[in-house]
Amino acid sequence: MPSDIKDLLLNLFFVISLPLIFHFLFEKRFRGIANKQLFTVVCALSIITVVFNPVEFDDGIMYDLRQIPIWLGSLYGGPISSAILITTLLLVRSFFGGDGIVIAMIISVLQLVIVFFFWRRFLNLNTSQKVLTATALTFMSSTGSILLLKFLYDYDTDISITVKYVLVQTIGMTVMSYLFETLTQNIYLREELLRSEKMKVVSHLASSISHEVRNPLTVVRGFIQLLYQEEVPWAKQRDYLKVSMDEIDRADKIIRDYLTFAKPAPEQSACLNLATEIEHSVNVVMPLANLHGVSINMKLFTEYVVGDSAQVQQCIINILKNSIEAMANGGTLDITMNRLNLYHFQIEIADTGTGMSEEQVRRLGEPYFTTKGVKGTGLGMMVVFRIIEALNGSIHVESELNKGTKMIITFSKNYAGSISHEQLTKHVQI
Ligand code: ADP
Ligand code: MG
Repeated sequence: MPSDIKDLLLNLFFVISLPLIFHFLFEKRFRGIANKQLFTVVCALSIITVVFNPVEFDDGIMYDLRQIPIWLGSLYGGPISSAILITTLLLVRSFFGGDGIVIAMIISVLQLVIVFFFWRRFLNLNTSQKVLTATALTFMSSTGSILLLKFLYDYDTDISITVKYVLVQTIGMTVMSYLFETLTQNIYLREELLRSEKMKVVSHLASSISHEVRNPLTVVRGFIQLLYQEEVPWAKQRDYLKVSMDEIDRADKIIRDYLTFAKPAPEQSACLNLATEIEHSVNVVMPLANLHGVSINMKLFTEYVVGDSAQVQQCIINILKNSIEAMANGGTLDITMNRLNLYHFQIEIADTGTGMSEEQVRRLGEPYFTTKGVKGTGLGMMVVFRIIEALNGSIHVESELNKGTKMIITFSKNYAGSISHEQLTKHVQI
């Protein structure tokens, strides 16, 4: 391979690798082009890298692949991102001086105008139209700068070098825009998956909850009827009223916790008392537990994690629901918190259900892995793993067929609500 092509490809590597590295390192926060600010910063860094590492050819002209990050950042980020990127380019480019700066300015102004008028329309295009548009624009701007160089300054450009430069840049853009479209779509798809799993859990629990709420209504109605029809001694009246109030309170608690869980809430990080989150989650699954004849024991104390309350509850509810479903003929579910040492604490959720084979434990968390046929989604544990990972925790699963399952979740202690940065690895083993 000729050395100039090698140099160009190295330049292309700079342009492509930076956004990709960011994508994989900070997937959650970066969210591909979905996080505009961060994407603009990455594109600006990419521009700085390529402008400082130009490829010098035999015709004495310095080439670099700046059009890729500029177009990518501008088309997805809009006019403000475009202005930031163009300013970055012109600032960095001015270090080098030469005639190129004037050309860079002309091309930049044209880019800004195009972005200003066509940006919104671009975002509404489908994937292939976006890739095509980005490719065509890159082709035009890179050819444009070469033509300007020739006609404004009468540079003697080598046609074969020009062709290589335009080709590498244009093909680079095709690859890059396609890659980013796919990566961003995957992120959205996964989020959609998590949402749909939650909706499934919500609808599964709904029937047991309506059953559980109807029961206290029947009890309360019975007592009111008694009070209405008979002369009841005052002491008895008080007993009836007390039972009625307790029943109503219980139903109220179930409904309130269920609705908070079911509500689609935006992700919000806060310092959460895990014991309270567990209690709310238990309230939501309690009707299901009663339906299956499962008794729930809890040993909780105050410990904090930083995360989103709805997500933490979804994680606990998914685990509890699995445990209850594994005890179709009743059993006990123990939820115990332990202080492991000065820095870590654990939550143990142990059931006396069907348990899992070694193979099943290994596959736990795999999307769509379910042994419940059409009744299962096979997404519950995937969501659990994902949320625990986001909370910097780890989960360990112990299970024995026909004996039961124990899930042990370990978290770093969070003193006075400060975030502990200790990262624990996730490991699943039997
Ligand atoms: P789903 O509950 O929809 O099947 P999950 O991802 O929640 O999907 O669980 C996947 C599978 O893992 C279940 O189908 C079940 O076979 C197994 N499993 C999970 N938790 C338990 C448990 N506590 N006891 C027995 N099996 C379990
Ligand atoms: Mg499940």
